[in-house]
Amino acid sequence: MSSPAVLIDQPTLARRIAELATEIRAAIPADDIHFVCVLKGAVLFTADLVRALDTRVTIDFIAVSSYGSGTASSGEVRLVKDLDAGVEGRHVVIIEDIVDTGLTLHYLQDILRRRGPASLRTACLLSKPSRRKIDVTVDFIGFTIDDHFVVGYGLDLDEKYRNLPYVGTLES
Ligand code: 5GP
Repeated sequence: MSSPAVLIDQPTLARRIAELATEIRAAIPADDIHFVCVLKGAVLFTADLVRALDTRVTIDFIAVSSYGSGTASSGEVRLVKDLDAGVEGRHVVIIEDIVDTGLTLHYLQDILRRRGPASLRTACLLSKPSRRKIDVTVDFIGFTIDDHFVVGYGLDLDEKYRNLPYVGTLES
């Protein structure tokens, strides 16, 4: 298994995540922020982001399937695991690894908005705007990248590479 080429290294990730925490804190002056981590890709990002925040946080997990195996999107989004707790009246931030076509995020924002949160925002580590198929609002974006298939720091290819401490690309 060849090592992916480094696209965003660990110190750069850490610096940007600290900035994102400051941005989130400034935008949501509430005592409690409820984070919804989208499994599995956003797990590492969530763990680092919440540790960079100095407010009270709660964390819940949701899982959807949008991609099968490989690198091509099926275009279909399905709820695989719902939240454990309700979000009504809470200040909610969805945490996603990457926004590509936008279909997954659009679906998630739609179902959570219907549950009556006090506010609903979205933080994505990565964004590939050139691939967007649907207009979706992302309030906090870590890095905007070109159309590469990326792995590492939570992101996989067929469940591999999630534990890399950096974001890398497999293409030459
Ligand atoms: P979207 O619905 O925006 O097209 O896709 C979002 C999901 O597709 C992400 O949560 C992620 O699981 C997957 N995805 C999109 N682009 C990439 C990529 O470059 N690398 C990996 N590993 N997953 C991706």
